[in-house]
Amino acid sequence: MALIVQKYGGSSVADAESIKRVAKRIVDTRRAGHEVVVAVSAMGDTTDELLDLAGQVAPIPAPRELDMLLSSGERISMALLAMAIHSMGFEARSFTGSQAGMITDATHGAARIVDVTPVRLREALDEGAIVIVAGFQGFSRDTRDITTLGRGGSDTTAVALAAALKADVCEIYSDVDGIFTADPRVVPLARKLERVGSEEMLELAANGAKVLYIRAVEYARRHGVLIHARSTFSPGEGTWVLDASKTSALVPERGAMEEPIVAGVATDLSQAKITVIGVPDVPGKAADIFKIVAKSGANVDMIVQNVSAAATARTDISFTLPKTDAATALRALAGEQSEVGFESLVHDDQIGKLSVVGAGMRTHSGVSATLFEALSMAGVNIEMISTSEIRISVVVRGVDLAEAARLVHTAYGLDGDAEATVHAGSGR
Ligand code: ASP
Ligand code: MG
Repeated sequence: MALIVQKYGGSSVADAESIKRVAKRIVDTRRAGHEVVVAVSAMGDTTDELLDLAGQVAPIPAPRELDMLLSSGERISMALLAMAIHSMGFEARSFTGSQAGMITDATHGAARIVDVTPVRLREALDEGAIVIVAGFQGFSRDTRDITTLGRGGSDTTAVALAAALKADVCEIYSDVDGIFTADPRVVPLARKLERVGSEEMLELAANGAKVLYIRAVEYARRHGVLIHARSTFSPGEGTWVLDASKTSALVPERGAMEEPIVAGVATDLSQAKITVIGVPDVPGKAADIFKIVAKSGANVDMIVQNVSAAATARTDISFTLPKTDAATALRALAGEQSEVGFESLVHDDQIGKLSVVGAGMRTHSGVSATLFEALSMAGVNIEMISTSEIRISVVVRGVDLAEAARLVHTAYGLDGDAEATVHAGSGR
């Protein structure tokens, strides 16, 4: 008997029929003799609809009330799911985040989990019940208010429950079959990975892969939680996310085949580039610029500083950030132009970022050469480059991104034999 945590995304519980289908899957797991804890997202696009509604009654909704509103989405799905399970003759109990002991800090809309005390869940399990928990929400001890964890937060709920209850596995169900070597909508020959290292998964999620939320992957890595990302709509195995150094009785042994050098290619069209032109090339200017940007709340990703022109002793500094942060960052920089002493600002939201991720990069040379060669053969110009130990990222024109991803995928030998079946999935 294992303890299994299952997370079902919004697309898996979009309507009554889907809820019954999920209930059946949960009951089947229980029938197989396992203890089951379920974290569930709000039905379909409920969260977006609630956000929209809030925007209609207030231009900037009060954060506390917004969390009260958004957390109701998951309460609806958890209760319906428990009812559906009852009607199949099984005992199920639903719990809100606060009843489940999901303790967070007090940051509305982006709360961090600080403690998980699943006392009531353990009791319910001991009494033979299936446990259903509302995803994405918690409770702050300081303010005694309901919080939410940020968009996609139900993944984190599931992983945190799995860690606290010492579950054998955390199964994350969505409308895609698992983690692919690339987004199949961009690279049709992408293959499903049987297994991916948690460190690689972290880099893939941070660089555009949307199936798992980065905070959930981080949490899982820190607490040693085994994740199995799989589809609600097909019975097959998905992708196991596990540290390369770790093993689990549940995870099939890797074949005799050596670990691939590159695990996958991630693409991201959500970033913009800001260039600060004519920055005096003296110590302290980069610090000034990025202090201003950080204060504006923007999350800077890649940074490039050009060689300064000898004649002017001025240089250009470019950086990327989420498109949604660009306007605020630009305004903040423009406000301090004379203090910093730069000449002008250029905003470019037509960029695309391509990343190649693989733990094998640590020990193999020539990985970047393959990338640059593939891009050069495609005639794609590289605008920025950044690397980590197990990742190489480049910024290219957004219109070139899909073509570049396909060629790079082929160059690393990642192509599958046939086009991947895409169930028009969102990964949620
Ligand atoms: N319902 C929330 C959202 O749509 C949380 C989640 O789905 O994980 O972001
Ligand atoms: Mg959702």
